[in-house]
Amino acid sequence: MKVDILTIFPDFFRGPLDYGIVRRAREFGLVEIQVHDLRAFAHDRHRTVDDRPFGGGEGMVLKPEPIFECMEALDIAPRDGRSAAKQSAVLLSAQGKRFGQRVAEELSALERIVLICGRYEGVDERVGEHLADHELSIGDYVLSGGELGAAVILDAMTRLIPGAVGNEASTRQESFSTHPKAEVEGVPSSTCAAGGLLDYPHYTRPSEFRGMAVPEVLISGNHEEIRRWRRRSALGKTLRNRPDLVNQAALSEEEKKLLAQIVGESDERKI
Ligand code: SAH
Repeated sequence: MKVDILTIFPDFFRGPLDYGIVRRAREFGLVEIQVHDLRAFAHDRHRTVDDRPFGGGEGMVLKPEPIFECMEALDIAPRDGRSAAKQSAVLLSAQGKRFGQRVAEELSALERIVLICGRYEGVDERVGEHLADHELSIGDYVLSGGELGAAVILDAMTRLIPGAVGNEASTRQESFSTHPKAEVEGVPSSTCAAGGLLDYPHYTRPSEFRGMAVPEVLISGNHEEIRRWRRRSALGKTLRNRPDLVNQAALSEEEKKLLAQIVGESDERKI
């Protein structure tokens, strides 16, 4: 996959691209990332990329010309043929549709992605209307620039490219993952697959640390018990922290029973 990032702060990406899975994916040639400095596409002596808003108001707005020209310098498919060419241009924007695991899954299947980073009060609307295919927001808050958002999208998407993570099955079992429950050889199915819920709690050695013990069932070696405990814990945590996800998840009969138990127990506690 090829990723192009359009920004007025190219140096910003020195850190985020150089660690862990993203770095490995780059080294393996799974993802090729190019960061483009929008100032290189400004034609005046001061390399101006922003201007005052029409109609008045606060702050400055990123001008359309450098962004259009930068895109034109890349061999991106024309907008009406982009989806067929498995390409997409994304404008980072607080006004965009919400980015999440499902969008990350969709993006990770593409061959080319352009991430356009705004700054100041935002980007001339013609970029979103006529150049980009999607506006994406990484959450309901306002950042000072699209760079952090681009780094977030890039990270979430890269780890889903086959081969990027050592144990591929693990990316299908994590929080939010919508993949059907993955069967992993040698591991009880289920330890497994978040199925749209949050991940279950993880523990490692030592089994007792400062008086805090690891749940006994995890040391029992009883795979079936472990599976049930993990599923129950994932359900409980999702119910506590993200009840909205429980309603959307496709639960098995066993999970519905576990959920009823958890709800019953918490009702008892309230009484
Ligand atoms: N005036 C805008 C905010 C501009 S912030 C508004 O109220 O909606 C400057 C830039 O930061 C934006 O152009 C966008 O690229 C980026 N940005 C800010 N918040 C973001 C978010 N939640 N998700 C993605 N990008 C964001």
